[in-house]
Amino acid sequence: MKAVWLENKQLSLKDNLPIPQPPEGEALIKVLQAGICNTDLELLRGYYPYTGILGHEFVGRVEKGPENLINRAVVGEINAACGECRFCKSGQPTHCENRTVLGIVNRHGAFAEYLTLPTKNLYVVPENVSLDEATFTEPVAAALEIQEQVKITPNQKVLVVGDGKLGQLVAQTLALTGCDLLVIGRHSDKLTNLESRGIKVGFKDVLKERSFDIAVECTGNPEGFSIARSALRPRGILVLKSTYAANLNLDISSIVVDEITLIGSRCGPFQKALNLLAQKTIDVNSLIQHRYPLEEAISAFESAGKRGVLKVLLEME
Ligand SMILES: [Zn+2]
Ligand SMILES: [Zn+2]
Repeated sequence: MKAVWLENKQLSLKDNLPIPQPPEGEALIKVLQAGICNTDLELLRGYYPYTGILGHEFVGRVEKGPENLINRAVVGEINAACGECRFCKSGQPTHCENRTVLGIVNRHGAFAEYLTLPTKNLYVVPENVSLDEATFTEPVAAALEIQEQVKITPNQKVLVVGDGKLGQLVAQTLALTGCDLLVIGRHSDKLTNLESRGIKVGFKDVLKERSFDIAVECTGNPEGFSIARSALRPRGILVLKSTYAANLNLDISSIVVDEITLIGSRCGPFQKALNLLAQKTIDVNSLIQHRYPLEEAISAFESAGKRGVLKVLLEME
């Protein structure tokens, strides 16, 4: 089969890889469509040493697996957990110490014609959710993870830093809480997209220091971090949604003095994400910028890596 292979920070398109055989408890999924995410771009830059097929945001059709899933369109949680370790046993499978992660840690990913995942990771796509929308389940779930970690109420002032792929989804999901939300970005077209949904937006010069209860960093760059940090009031909460390929230089003393809570935030609830997509309460279609066939994955990556480009999709058939 064809797939996008990452090795030594180099991408290549392979066409001679074997179709994977699902082990016990896993399903074989024909990938229909997949999305390129910043994590893929960070992996390419070396944030984590991974060799194998890249990709973790996908929608596919089950070809081998339990009867009730055959031929169904599915999306899948990316962490495959062991079920045995102390994190699994305490209900935190995304932190399983033996986990493999689709297209990220020891598990071939979704930029391929086929992938396998444990059947317990799979969710059937509701009928009124399109394939395009379903491809966004994973990043929408990741955006919703913030609300699993922090209780957000309508009287709180919440800042989102970043108007890119992740910032757009984080902003839309936070807006549903009714909080007093502001999104800071660099691109007026992307900010306009959020503004048209009733979300307050601006460039960083509108920010007053020490004025927000919660700030969510969605840029993955040190400047975004420092904007989010300085906008927080004492005892504010700083949520980090992005991985950083480089190390951050941060003023730890100010975090101590201001008693700031730092929260790392990663994978989130798939079923809630699918429900939002089915209810059409958030819009992901406006985030799709380009589509490429799998054969043109290298060009797709070049396009996705350009500054300001939103979601680039790979189509497998
Ligand atoms: Zn992702
Ligand atoms: Zn485990």
